[in-house]
Amino acid sequence: MLSVSDTENIIFNLVQPLDNQRDIELIDLLAAGDRILASPITSQLDFPHWDNSAMDGYAMRFADVQAASAEKPVILEIIEEIPAGYQPQSTIKPGQAARIFTGAVMPKGADTVVMQESTYREGNRVSILATPKPQQFVRHRAAYYQAGSQLLPEGIILKAAEIAVLAAAQCIELSVYRRPRVAIFSTGDELVTPDQPLQPGQIVDSNHYALFHLVRQMGAELLMLGIVKDEPEKLKQVLATAINNADVVLSSGGVSVGDYDYIEEIIESLGGQIHVRAVGMKPGKPLTVASFENNTDKTVGNRVIYFGLPGNPVSALVTFWRFVQPSIKKLSGLSQGWKPEFVEVRSLQELRSDGKRETYFWGYLDLNNGVYEFQPAGGSHSSANLINLAQTNALAMVPVGTRLIPAQAQVQVLRIDS
Ligand code: AMP
Ligand code: MG
Repeated sequence: MLSVSDTENIIFNLVQPLDNQRDIELIDLLAAGDRILASPITSQLDFPHWDNSAMDGYAMRFADVQAASAEKPVILEIIEEIPAGYQPQSTIKPGQAARIFTGAVMPKGADTVVMQESTYREGNRVSILATPKPQQFVRHRAAYYQAGSQLLPEGIILKAAEIAVLAAAQCIELSVYRRPRVAIFSTGDELVTPDQPLQPGQIVDSNHYALFHLVRQMGAELLMLGIVKDEPEKLKQVLATAINNADVVLSSGGVSVGDYDYIEEIIESLGGQIHVRAVGMKPGKPLTVASFENNTDKTVGNRVIYFGLPGNPVSALVTFWRFVQPSIKKLSGLSQGWKPEFVEVRSLQELRSDGKRETYFWGYLDLNNGVYEFQPAGGSHSSANLINLAQTNALAMVPVGTRLIPAQAQVQVLRIDS
């Protein structure tokens, strides 16, 4: 049995990001939300594109107004009005000013803007009532960004700010990583779909629905392979289809030590290598991880990672959040932020474990008077009790060797957002 951190290291080393040459798509900027950039973006434009005004006011020569005050205003002649979006026509000479608006291009000759609140206008004359700072309220060309330098790096997720930056830089077609392909199936003779009346001993395949949602939410392409009976031939057939068509294969059920647990043999017969057979965590001990290399039949990348998740619905979800979700994020091309991030918060109740396995408690991470606190869910923390997992948003972790985290003590918590 491997520790959680050894398991994590093995898995995160096995998972390699999609290839930034081969595994890409060219997409329109309007379709780019939540996609991951596959190559860095360099803009041809300076930002701002030209010197422009940061205020509604008057553009002038600083030299003319360096002694202006309310008592001794400097009076300038207004020779032009420059709204945003227009090219100024004149050059500002000594004693002259232009009426200018926010974002409008600075006229030649002018180097300073005085906001309208510090002026008094009469006809085509404006009195400047205060000394500006030199170059005040001028946004200089290329002050924020110079054409030719890198605007956005590869491996970032495109959200509103990045999309706005790309639009402003006129990048309307982008290279992003293709969506990872994830195959999902459930194993077990006892499983039925939710629309079937339950016969004695049967259980609804809830993992199908939970995993479908989790994977779809990550922007992956799904291959849903349904329920597979506990029959080696069927299982082998479905697993072969899965590894030929996906980057990641998720199954649930049937990987622990039962009479019907022959998945190891099947993996090996399909050329797979098993890396993890059991993990010292609770829930989630019966986790299998395998890889399949250089699959020549495949239309997608070479290496396929197989996660045989435990069948118990809580264990399946906890192991997904702990290992699979970060793996899919890393595979998707995200260069940072794909690892699980624990935060330390106060637990409102005591948390007890046998100290032998890393133990996870599901519950609520809540903000109270500006401080995050963890409240474990009420009811049984059994890996078969799916019901009290509902409406939780975090997992608190009790490490190996710790048998008790007393109420009000600090605990490491992983936030769950899907
Ligand atoms: P297994 O890992 O196959 O031994 O299953 C462990 C427990 O999880 C058993 O009680 C199964 O009935 C249950 N289980 C297995 N697969 C699923 C599934 N897809 N959805 C809901 N429960 C499941
Ligand atoms: Mg089973």
